[in-house]
Amino acid sequence: MDLPASFGLDEPVDVDALTTALTTALDGRWGELRRGVRAQMATAVVRDNSDLTTEQYRQRVFDDLHLLAKTGPARFGFDPKYGGMGDPAASVVAHEMLGFGDLSLMVKAGVQWGLFGGAVQLLGTRRHHERYLRDIMDLQLTGCFAMTETGHGSDVQHLRTTAAYDPATAEFVIGTPDPAARKDYIGNAARDGRMAVVFAQLIVDGRSRGVHALLVPIRDGDGNPMPGVSIEDCGRKGGLNGVDNGRLSFRDVRVPREALLNRFGDVGEDGRYSSPIESDGRRFFTMIGTLIRGRISVAGTAGSATKRALAIAVGYSNTRRQFERPGGQGEVVLLDYQAHQGKLLPALATSYALSFAQHELVGGLGELSGEGPRDERQQRELESRAAGIKAVATWHATATIQACREACGGAGYLAENLLTTLKADTDVFTTFEGDNTVLLQLVAKGLLTNYQSQVGDLGTLATARFIAEQFAGAFIERTAARGVIERLLAAGPGRDGETVLFDRAWQIRAFEDREKHMLDGLARRLRRAAGLSGDGNGVDRGDRGDRGDRGAFAIFNDAQDHLLRTARVHIDRVVLEAFVGAVERCPSPAARALLSRVCDLYVLASIEGDLAWFLAHGRLTAVRAKSVTGAVNALCELLRPHAQALVDAFAIPRPYLGAAILAGAGS
Ligand SMILES: Cc1cc2nc3c(=O)[nH]c(=O)nc-3n(C[C@H](O)[C@H](O)[C@H](O)COP(=O)(O)OP(=O)(O)OC[C@H]3O[C@@H](n4cnc5c(N)ncnc54)[C@H](O)[C@@H]3O)c2cc1C
Repeated sequence: MDLPASFGLDEPVDVDALTTALTTALDGRWGELRRGVRAQMATAVVRDNSDLTTEQYRQRVFDDLHLLAKTGPARFGFDPKYGGMGDPAASVVAHEMLGFGDLSLMVKAGVQWGLFGGAVQLLGTRRHHERYLRDIMDLQLTGCFAMTETGHGSDVQHLRTTAAYDPATAEFVIGTPDPAARKDYIGNAARDGRMAVVFAQLIVDGRSRGVHALLVPIRDGDGNPMPGVSIEDCGRKGGLNGVDNGRLSFRDVRVPREALLNRFGDVGEDGRYSSPIESDGRRFFTMIGTLIRGRISVAGTAGSATKRALAIAVGYSNTRRQFERPGGQGEVVLLDYQAHQGKLLPALATSYALSFAQHELVGGLGELSGEGPRDERQQRELESRAAGIKAVATWHATATIQACREACGGAGYLAENLLTTLKADTDVFTTFEGDNTVLLQLVAKGLLTNYQSQVGDLGTLATARFIAEQFAGAFIERTAARGVIERLLAAGPGRDGETVLFDRAWQIRAFEDREKHMLDGLARRLRRAAGLSGDGNGVDRGDRGDRGDRGAFAIFNDAQDHLLRTARVHIDRVVLEAFVGAVERCPSPAARALLSRVCDLYVLASIEGDLAWFLAHGRLTAVRAKSVTGAVNALCELLRPHAQALVDAFAIPRPYLGAAILAGAGS
């Protein structure tokens, strides 16, 4: 396919200036912070950990964690009153930068300061902050975030560990009632953690108050388990072996009343339970929602690891030659092959797209973390976007790192070229901080219920009925880029024929239309399944509503495929809007022109991946569907000369690009 002539990428450009302008766009509003972290990382000595024993690797990571504790990023997320810097967005950005390095160190830091420290900061109150925050930042107090149990990972609301209040001694008694209630996979538990934030069902006066978090010492000063605490080592894992994951069980472990992290629920000196949030369901979702930083961090670090893999694969593919070009012109550079471009360049475009979506997410976190009253709906929407972008970014990491490994052939399989380690270490990102499939279901439910918080109190059937009654048709809630998008939509479409595919307004409409259609269809399906009339008038025909648990279960289960796809296309639209906003903001004409084409590639490769839907729903004719593939290929060819600049713009500190194949070993 011939591309529209107006693209302007054939003008001569100063490649260094272009790369710098792209880096500025990718760094976004945290440019200064990123430059500071990069400067620190640029002097790092990066060691090969692949031959270390588990114990040696854990020790190395723990030593490096101590070095990290002396730097600013460990303090960003904490309250300034206790030596922190009160900037959670900055803490997430700094963490994302750690994703360019050893991912065990990144995860260990995330467990200590993000999960453990974050829970003390966000779920605790002054008494906890005063006592613990400095020590947590300085690594005087190492800790765990003990939520998951062997029997319950995704379903946190039904954890089984108990914390029963004993008014006679003003203590909580922590117990593991059965083997399935054992805390499992817990980072920092097997070796280094001295305390754990333990999530347990709080029982006061014989009544369960739902899941709450308590600070429980697990080791004494000599590193021995505290009385009643059993600790097991999870042993060798598929990756991230510098992190000591372990299992914790509790037998009548007593902690004082003040150990309860009591921001959202407390037991007073009189032994009575109180909470600023009356409903158990809302309290639980508010508490869990507060811990959103971890999820945003995983999305960001998945992005960094993916960029590192792309930098290695594109760099290698730009030098490695294979097969003679006819006419004695020498061998062909791998990246000149269309199939090779197809392996790497759409993924590169998606990495750009997700970077800009991550900016919006972190920006939203910064805004909602400020002082003053919270807008609950905005908070829920941010939680939903964090869940969706985490899922999409981590799946993208898994697929792209594998593609990069294959793009480097046999060399990609050697540990010295880093890709196998990246693959192993990022694999579990799709599972921890929320299993991706479960997260996408949350996204879809948020869309269907318009993020209303009372849904937290409803069971499955009641939620389906709520949706059936409240859902008034899909509504596209714009992201931060709303001004730009609206202007583009008002202006377009300005092209026709095949070139319409490159029209931004057409592209946005295509994504919006797909989302609206899927969401409306999903609501209709649930409405019918819940036994309410499909026309939205809320009349209960009672044909399914009384079928009990099985009926309630089936309502959502039968529509799970639809639920997941709806969430996915919603996130695709959110990501596209972020990309469009970033293109418009870019002050450099050359970088803007290039980003605009990268955005086209992101959109058209995404449509190509979902052609079946566009065809089945009459959104594309067969002829235009074929031209989508032509356009993707043409864009790959157009962008090929810029591929190196696009990965150089990630500005990954040199020591972290030490793959032997980048030193010319493969050419
Ligand atoms: C290396 C590592 C580090 C970890 N660190 C910590 C930590 O420090 N602290 C902590 O508390 N936890 C930690 N975890 C636990 C992690 O958060 C859980 O593994 C995760 O929440 C998933 O829970 P699960 O393993 O029980 O899987 P499950 O929830 O049982 O999921 C298993 C499969 O079932 C599917 N599934 C489950 N429910 C549904 C549903 N409703 N609909 C459709 N499909 C469904 C999932 O998609 C998945 O494919 C860690 C895990 C690992 C592996």
